[in-house]
Amino acid sequence: MASNIPTSSPPPRRPQITLDHTSPVTCSCGGQVFRGDYFIVREASRLLTGETQDSVGPVQVVVCVKCEEILQKMLPPELRENKVEIVQK
Ligand SMILES: [Zn+2]
Repeated sequence: MASNIPTSSPPPRRPQITLDHTSPVTCSCGGQVFRGDYFIVREASRLLTGETQDSVGPVQVVVCVKCEEILQKMLPPELRENKVEIVQK
């Protein structure tokens, strides 16, 4: 097997980030505790995907335990700003 791949320069080192370099993410209600076991479900028409069936898939969301609002920062950018209601059981 050829192993003469030129050794490229090592990838740029990321700065070491420790938790004391981070800042808390806060909900609009002031809450700083979130749960991550919620999902929204998105679907895509088969006309868009070219598949034989519509595609349906869950997207995990992080929700404030205080007000149950979705933490927008954790959403994929395409889904932010959408008001997604969580229906209480
Ligand atoms: Zn909240």
